[in-house]
Amino acid sequence: SPVSAVVERLCATVPDYPKPGIVFKDLTPVFADGGALRQVVDSLVCAFAGKFDAVAGVEARGFLLAAAAAYATGTGVITIRKAGKLPRAVYAQSYALEYGQATLELHQDDIPAGTRVLILDDVLATGGTLGAASALLERAGAVVAGVGVVLEIDALAGRDNLAGREVVSLLHV
Ligand code: IMP
Repeated sequence: SPVSAVVERLCATVPDYPKPGIVFKDLTPVFADGGALRQVVDSLVCAFAGKFDAVAGVEARGFLLAAAAAYATGTGVITIRKAGKLPRAVYAQSYALEYGQATLELHQDDIPAGTRVLILDDVLATGGTLGAASALLERAGAVVAGVGVVLEIDALAGRDNLAGREVVSLLHV
């Protein structure tokens, strides 16, 4: 089946998590299924074939996708982490979440200047997270090759926060 159908079949929908009124899309069953995980990672990599030199993941679920995609393509992983987790000098970027506020950080010297970085995460909601991740990579001298997610929540218009970037979503809801 097409990757969108696989994701749709395995994705769990959790009403009122983590707060009343939020409908949470839980992709852990997609990650837990060997065939689905491979199809998802292959699809994201294929969409950006030849266009990236490294893969960045956003903590924590983005790490799963980024590590698999990097391994599959012989590239390295860049970790974009929640505040306070990286031990050396960082760039920090704060942003508004669908529910709350957060800060992401990136080591200042993890990426050689001009490296083309593909950013992966599980879900694109308001786009705040991936907008902040993109800004961090550019502050570190990288070029954002594109943004790939497994699932995009269209109603939240997250693409508007990623204007001018190539965004690939395997499933739109
Ligand atoms: P955004 O910043 O509003 O686009 O939210 C995206 C970030 O929050 C990603 O790192 C997601 O992992 C997480 N997130 C937001 N909504 C959901 C959801 O419905 N399911 C799973 N993760 C979500």
